[in-house]
Amino acid sequence: MSATLLPGQPHVHYENSQLHVEGCSLDALSITHGTPLFVYSKASMLDALAAYQRGFAGRNARICYAMKANSSLAILQLFAKAGCGFDIVSEGELARVLAAGADASKVIFSGVGKTRAEMACALEAGIGCFNVESEAEIDVLNEVALGMGKQAPISIRVNPNVDPKTHPYISTGLKGNKFGIAHERTLMTYQRAAALPGLKVVGIDCHIGSQITEETPYLDAMDRMLDLVESIEAAGIPIHHIDFGGGLGINYNGDTPPAADALWHKLLGKLDARGFGQRQLMIEPGRSLVGNAGVCVTEVLYMKPGEQKNFCIVDAAMNDLPRPAMYQAFHSIVPVKQAASQSSGAEVFDVVGPVCESGDWIGHDRTLQVQSGDKLAVLSAGAYCMSMSSNYNSRPKAAEVLVDGAHSHLIRQRDSFADQIRGEKLL
Ligand SMILES: *Cc1c(COP(=O)(O)O)cnc(C)c1O
Repeated sequence: MSATLLPGQPHVHYENSQLHVEGCSLDALSITHGTPLFVYSKASMLDALAAYQRGFAGRNARICYAMKANSSLAILQLFAKAGCGFDIVSEGELARVLAAGADASKVIFSGVGKTRAEMACALEAGIGCFNVESEAEIDVLNEVALGMGKQAPISIRVNPNVDPKTHPYISTGLKGNKFGIAHERTLMTYQRAAALPGLKVVGIDCHIGSQITEETPYLDAMDRMLDLVESIEAAGIPIHHIDFGGGLGINYNGDTPPAADALWHKLLGKLDARGFGQRQLMIEPGRSLVGNAGVCVTEVLYMKPGEQKNFCIVDAAMNDLPRPAMYQAFHSIVPVKQAASQSSGAEVFDVVGPVCESGDWIGHDRTLQVQSGDKLAVLSAGAYCMSMSSNYNSRPKAAEVLVDGAHSHLIRQRDSFADQIRGEKLL
């Protein structure tokens, strides 16, 4: 009855050589529900949330789950029940959180390209705050709110110009990024916003990037944010809350991000030292709440040995797991059933999907002992996988299961062909 844990995935382990998520065997789940199959650990998500909650114990803080990381309804419901608010980036995400039972007043709306229709819909729902990302957006939101006889609560997303030292596609707080308002223009932008009758300034926010594994960028960004709060308040505009965004990384491949509670211990030390310890705080974590809670189970279709490369062709593809193709991201790939003898017969493979693109790979140069019909688990697949998945190559979107101890719940059934062509019309 040996139980071997996998690094970074405390609820994914081998039990009698079979990979389990909590008390459920992945082989059994994939026989019931087919492959590719996403399987999530409820305990893993709640543990990740608990680290933030510990970090904020005794503080006036709200955790707004950045739902674009994984927007499946049951997962939103889980976080809503655990007391979270939500960070949304579209009207569709608003509809999803409301369908999952979220309290609109705990919803904050980020994104550089909110349409008038989206603004109106969020105002109607009574969301907690609009995180405004440009000077042009300030004017449009003011107009929309006045047209509805309302005042829109706003925070301005500032770009603290710190380097989060992550992949360029997921770094968002540098001067060259499309996000937020430049540090130097922040004060005048607040003054403009405060003078508009359709807006009510309530906060300030930033989000410097994603998969951040060092604490220095956060500490630097906090200093720069507090400098701004001081200058904005000196100009007579009170800042009710400070929203520090998301971005904390997870262990994909030996990465060692700070623990959420340890990081917040340091950040709160800074806030206290500068006299902001009692201010309302908000954060927008996405990946760090769900990333290591999920795996994707896939079946090996064909082994294709080659002169330069051996390929292991599996039934999951870039439409299910887009991160390798998009960011050259690394996901660990492990067998669902451990081989009896380690390493004998193991070879180096590129694990690839069936999609007609050379970019359709899941892992390069992986040492595996596999044959067709075996099942593999792609780890750390809880964030930015299902929510980024598509029907490319007319492949159905995968099914999703949430595991709670020995129980499993099918939280999304696999797309049917009818799902895929719904809304299409022949000439
Ligand atoms: C994506 C995003 C987040 C969440 O980022 P993670 O790296 O997943 O924690 C938070 N805030 C905003 C504005 C975002 O765009």
